[in-house]
Amino acid sequence: MKLPFAESYKIKTVENLKRSTRAERERWITEAKYNLFNLKSDYVFIDLLTDSGTGAMSDKQWAAIMEGDESYAGARSYYALKESIEEVTGFRYFIPTHQGRAAENVLFSAIIKEGDILPGNSHFDTTKGHIEFRKAYAIDCTIDEAKDTELEIPFKGNIDLDKLENVLKSNPVEKIPAIVLTVTNNTAGGQPVSMANVKGVAALAKKYGVKLLIDSARFAENAYFIKTREDGYQDKEIREITRELFSYADMMTMSSKKDAIVNIGGFVAFRTEEDMQKCHMYCIMNEGYLTYGGQAGRDMNALAQGLREGTEFDYLETRIRQVEYLGKKLDEYGIPYQRPAGGHAIFVDAKKILTKVPKEEFIAQTLGVELYLEAGIRSVEIGALLADRDPVTKENRYPALELLRLAIPRRVYTNNHMDYIAAALKNVYDRRESITRGYVITKELPIMRHFTVELEKAE
Ligand SMILES: *Cc1c(COP(=O)(O)O)cnc(C)c1O
Repeated sequence: MKLPFAESYKIKTVENLKRSTRAERERWITEAKYNLFNLKSDYVFIDLLTDSGTGAMSDKQWAAIMEGDESYAGARSYYALKESIEEVTGFRYFIPTHQGRAAENVLFSAIIKEGDILPGNSHFDTTKGHIEFRKAYAIDCTIDEAKDTELEIPFKGNIDLDKLENVLKSNPVEKIPAIVLTVTNNTAGGQPVSMANVKGVAALAKKYGVKLLIDSARFAENAYFIKTREDGYQDKEIREITRELFSYADMMTMSSKKDAIVNIGGFVAFRTEEDMQKCHMYCIMNEGYLTYGGQAGRDMNALAQGLREGTEFDYLETRIRQVEYLGKKLDEYGIPYQRPAGGHAIFVDAKKILTKVPKEEFIAQTLGVELYLEAGIRSVEIGALLADRDPVTKENRYPALELLRLAIPRRVYTNNHMDYIAAALKNVYDRRESITRGYVITKELPIMRHFTVELEKAE
């Protein structure tokens, strides 16, 4: 008999979960103004809000924590991290930061000025926030195929090279501080970017004399997809693939809370010492001295170990197969989602489910609230709330897709939890016709409103 697939790790520490009743959840979500970010985690049974910082660290990472060197300058932990970053990415220069958006802040403070243009593939929300806050523009050049959730193609996160070249051609190079390539493409559904596409983007960057920045949070998952889907990479080690990927870039920003499987941390890394030095002042001002930049020595130690574990094939296979497993369960129930299943999450196609809720009433958010009420599962909206208002016209932006992201934390839940999630979603799906109204905003911030927005039922 062929042996079935099994996880490549076992469990050493557990944390108990709290169940709740539907009546309790009705009260809590009303008090939370229908914003899932406002819920206490104790009110959540399965938390799929994000895969960021929510992973389970290994015994080796916890051991590394004990060995952290807390010296203010020149700590061993800094050098351990430097070595690990170089091994995994090939970048020799780096600045530690407290998380990914801090890496963006440090880098963008040095390179972006008002009116600049940064083309890319569906910039991440904090990335877009940092660009627009500086009165610069994030131009999305993702391939159009990414908008068709039913289409199964291997690299749905790719940049459309024609769209990119148009932007590069029609703007002066001084106005383009970098192309921002996000791997995997989170907003398009955790979809990977092919090596061929990375090479194409790098060739255009070179042709027009523009720098290439890789927003790298899920670079290891992206490498797994390259290995398993792209010709010529089957026999390569994950780390050979990650080093090749970064060899085409001038710099990277990293949220270590994703593929480096730590609870906090980030960094910016550079090909040249000169580019790094331009950012030093912003690190010292905002993050801390250059050899810790917002992290404790123990954090850098755990990160150094996590980068290595996160780029092991067996771990990645376990991780990505769990997401696929959830996708297959949803297939059984006929629930539409961005296909194929992404690396870190399933993105449920809310528009195809709640067909009666108008887009002005936040379709994906409405589905998220229903899923919480059904089973205590917390997910996150990737739709009109996240899209914010246009910075110039202040009008609501309605993206082509209204997605509900079910982000799977790393090494945390079992496949029984996946079964539970799929069943809960099926129950909501079965009563979809009865859900006709959504929510309206009562309070919002001017940028990244989705974190703090307050809503009430639309009547
Ligand atoms: C999470 C993330 C960020 C921001 O990182 P934080 O650690 O949350 O500050 C930036 N880009 C991408 C692609 C991310 O996934």
